[in-house]
Amino acid sequence: MKRIDKKENGQFFGTSICYTSKNVEVVTSDEFLDMIIEKGCRFAWYFHYMPVSNDAAPELMPTKEQRVYMYHRVREIRGNTGGKPIYAMDFQNDGEFVGGCIAGGRNYCHINPNGDVELCVLIHYSGADIREVSLLDALKQPLFLAYRDNQPFNQNHLRPCPMLENPELLQKMVRETGAYSTDLMSEESAEHLCGKCRHYAEEWGRRPRPCGKSAILSPRGTVTIKTRLYCYSVGNKLYSFLRRSHRNSRRHKSFLYGVCCADFCCV
Ligand code: SF4
Repeated sequence: MKRIDKKENGQFFGTSICYTSKNVEVVTSDEFLDMIIEKGCRFAWYFHYMPVSNDAAPELMPTKEQRVYMYHRVREIRGNTGGKPIYAMDFQNDGEFVGGCIAGGRNYCHINPNGDVELCVLIHYSGADIREVSLLDALKQPLFLAYRDNQPFNQNHLRPCPMLENPELLQKMVRETGAYSTDLMSEESAEHLCGKCRHYAEEWGRRPRPCGKSAILSPRGTVTIKTRLYCYSVGNKLYSFLRRSHRNSRRHKSFLYGVCCADFCCV
């Protein structure tokens, strides 16, 4: 930690932090954040613990209450008002900004030290070795095509993953495309991996359902409530915000679209 101290070398840097049921409060505490900010850290990428590998510890997966806490806490940390001078991102709770899962070649993929072209750094299955095929062919392997055919895996972008929140989907795609396990420690079947996520997915899925509505404010100031597929919802806070934004909307002759209200009712 001494070597990354801003006072010594003037560098700024980012962190990659895995949050678990055991450390979620510590790694988001004011004390921890103030310490890394003081050392020069300018962005923090939070990763939800994934029970990957035969030796994984599923009990380290955050509870749904802890995940809700993370949703709010990360937005608080990066808030323009009252936030901290660091940009925090949450790999599992920020799907709404990127349209859900980005893996399988949609926006990125992962190549492990053995050359296996994997869907995601967290999901170790493949049907292509980069030493034998071109990157373009690797991106066209059956498992990747199945991924892209099925994205987004859920219309609720707070449930983006085919392993963690939709575990039945990863098993199906691996089975149907004949992909193999590329885990570097020990081969793990998709059924075994996804079996560890079933309870979590059910619990998280039991959160209140999306209301399926969004609000649109016209330049004339009228608010229209529309039904949409996405997890947008309309609460009183959002409605008030749109009304307050009316003047701005008129100036730019634009429409404002409502997004999730602050009540987290759409998870
Ligand atoms: S496969 Fe899961 S963990 Fe990987 S990018 Fe997609 S949603 Fe995220």
